Amino acid sequence: MTRFLFVIMVLMSPVIMYAQATQTDKDIDGQDNFRATATKINDLVHTKLDVKFDYDKSYLYGKAWITLHPHFYPTDSLQLDAKGMDIKEVSLMTGKIKSSLKYLYDGMLLNITLNKIYKGGENYTVFIDYVSKPNELKTKGSAAITDAKGLYFINPKGEEKDKPTQIWTQGETESNSAWFPTIDKPNQKTTDEIYMTVPSKYVTLSNGLLISQKKNTDGTRTDYWKMDLPHAPYLFFMGVGDYSIIKDSYKGKEVSYYVEKEYASVARKIFGETPAMIAFYEKITGVPYAWPKYSQIVGRDYVSGAMENTTATLHQESAQQDARELTDENKWENTIAHELFHQWFGDLVTTESWSNLTLNESFANYSEYLWNKYRYGKDAADEHNYSEMGEYFNSKSENKNLVRFYYDNKEDMFDAVSYNKGGNILHMLQLYVGDSAFFKSLNLYLSANKFKSAEAHQLRLAFEEVTGQDLNWFWNQWYFGSGNPELNIVYSYDSTKKQAQVIVQQTQEGNKIFKLPVAIDVYNGTSRSRYNVWVQDKVDTFYFASPSKPNLVNFDAEKGLLAITKENKTLDEYLFQYKNARNYVDRREAIDAAIEKQDQQKAVEILMLALNDSYPGLRQYSIEHLDLKKQDVKTLAEPILAKLVENEKVRKVKAAAIAQLGGYESAKYSSLFRAAVDDSSYTVSGNALEALFRVDAGEAFTQAKRLSAAPSKGKLAESIGSILVVNGDENGTNGLINNFKNLAFGQEKIDALGSVAFALGRTKSLDNLKSGVEALIDFRNKLPEKYKESFGPIVPNILEDLEKAKQTSGQKEQADYIQEKLAEQK
Ligand SMILES: [Zn+2]
Repeated sequence: MTRFLFVIMVLMSPVIMYAQATQTDKDIDGQDNFRATATKINDLVHTKLDVKFDYDKSYLYGKAWITLHPHFYPTDSLQLDAKGMDIKEVSLMTGKIKSSLKYLYDGMLLNITLNKIYKGGENYTVFIDYVSKPNELKTKGSAAITDAKGLYFINPKGEEKDKPTQIWTQGETESNSAWFPTIDKPNQKTTDEIYMTVPSKYVTLSNGLLISQKKNTDGTRTDYWKMDLPHAPYLFFMGVGDYSIIKDSYKGKEVSYYVEKEYASVARKIFGETPAMIAFYEKITGVPYAWPKYSQIVGRDYVSGAMENTTATLHQESAQQDARELTDENKWENTIAHELFHQWFGDLVTTESWSNLTLNESFANYSEYLWNKYRYGKDAADEHNYSEMGEYFNSKSENKNLVRFYYDNKEDMFDAVSYNKGGNILHMLQLYVGDSAFFKSLNLYLSANKFKSAEAHQLRLAFEEVTGQDLNWFWNQWYFGSGNPELNIVYSYDSTKKQAQVIVQQTQEGNKIFKLPVAIDVYNGTSRSRYNVWVQDKVDTFYFASPSKPNLVNFDAEKGLLAITKENKTLDEYLFQYKNARNYVDRREAIDAAIEKQDQQKAVEILMLALNDSYPGLRQYSIEHLDLKKQDVKTLAEPILAKLVENEKVRKVKAAAIAQLGGYESAKYSSLFRAAVDDSSYTVSGNALEALFRVDAGEAFTQAKRLSAAPSKGKLAESIGSILVVNGDENGTNGLINNFKNLAFGQEKIDALGSVAFALGRTKSLDNLKSGVEALIDFRNKLPEKYKESFGPIVPNILEDLEKAKQTSGQKEQADYIQEKLAEQK
């Protein structure tokens, strides 16, 4: 699954808020018990389903034939997960003959007494006739749940205009048992076949292959999907809706993309790298793609980022980007890579328990690094890794083990430790054992455990077998331990002994001392010597012979360490580092040091070089962090920025340069800005419009009016709206509200809150105020459960500030309306 960490950055008058989205740690039962792997009493063997949908009631009418056998010990009982269903019949199948079985059902668990004691490995098939009612599902007698319904009916009665009618399912962690009875544990695997009867105007998607389609006389059609290879119940999937299906292929297997019709023409721009990704992942793992096809589908109102259902990945609607958005970048590409790699790590070999979730998620997370490195180069991959590491540090989860046997809620496992930190640990492991041993170990792990489940030790054993080394130290430190090193590094030089000295002190809290293999590079002029050392004490001191004071001593020369480091480098050393140590992080660290000291000449020198860095991400980063209040920076950067605005090919860099050059408020750039207003990138166009506004407000207003006639998104929509609002044009208010309404829940929508509040603060129209306030309240009401606590309070905060502002400006009618809505909110 792909998860998101959202950040609230709403900057507006008069509200300024900043908060970090935190996963709520709600404890289901307050217990702190050991989360053991589920005991296998019975094993699933095969699951056959026949389902029909009732769109009026949001029900599923299902028939299930489930074949199982006792795992080892003989038993005459079977317990199935079946959440919130009506159970109509439970029988044993003997050939085609049904004989009824005794059962007890408590709304969550179905306890069946079999007709006899079955021996280990002896197959039997039970038949269950049931009704699934996902919207009426309750958890422990409390309110209806929104995040674990398993089966989702989207706009089932077509009452919401502009929203398609869809059905999709979400199983992880244990929610698929809300739509079919099963043993809903990740250490179970079963083959399956599903007959789905749907209105014939819709297409369907499920795991495996579409074997046949049959038209029925009542305007429905029955699609028969079959999955011949065993996979875990949480990876079962059904999708139904009005989609265009765009088909690619890989080695004769279907690779397809299910998108809403208006995205058919850009589907390949979004998903088209998939066959190349499959080829790449096959090559590095040495394990061919195991499944019969690979489809990706986009679902409205999806509760997470994306989900790696076997052969049928579901993506959030943010995946659907239009051609102009894709000019900047395909912001969904990492997610596409992530879910695809799960088809190996997660689907082929599955974590045996949520405690070992890292066996799924760290690999999917790290696959983003590997794909970026292969497709876009090492800088792009390193940038991605650096930001993943930063997210882990920001998450403040030093006290959580990677493999965690104690947790309150299994959903808590889906955090920056299982994902980001886990991915970084794989990166360190790869640096330590070397590329060839790393991938050979992955091959062994996948081959030995395919179509089965595994725990973290199985990964260790694979690496030990390949490398011939005892790796318990690494697993104990990183997999079964918590935290990360914090290092204080002091460099010095003794000119009498002709020795460079590096003191490394571990300063993290607690008694834990990390054992870290590290490379140190010593630079004398252009000659570089590499030393591989072990950091393993509270304080380690390393000496290196050097005829003169080195220009630079570079600790962790590969920049792979998951550590927070403090170093006593000078700007001279950073300048040398920027020019000579060529990793992304080497340059990034130098730029960061320079950003802090923009009144010093060496810092300015680093920044001016970085404006033309070979890697676009660092060009953009440097541009965005220029402090134009510093006269030297302002003077020296101006011609470079102007050139970038004219010649830069990468849209995000060009957009950043335009925003900064706009800060000069110089009329001589107005034609440059005016030209960029019609750029195909929303970001370039939006920033250009804003920059133009700073030098020629009248022309910017004219352009904004012209552009408002066509639909736009993102930065352009915001710029048009804001400029119209400033000019008292109520169309701007409308535009900003509509833009906000059209955004799916995510970072962009959170960011857009500010512009809506800004427009509402200025509007003279009571109707526009009402429509904006309603949009804000709707946003609050529809927040996914786990974000309610972090983001819920923003809306009343905005409304309170708005109400005060309206009182002050004497707009009594508006103030009264807001007050009324605020009262309803409480
Ligand atoms: Zn994932």
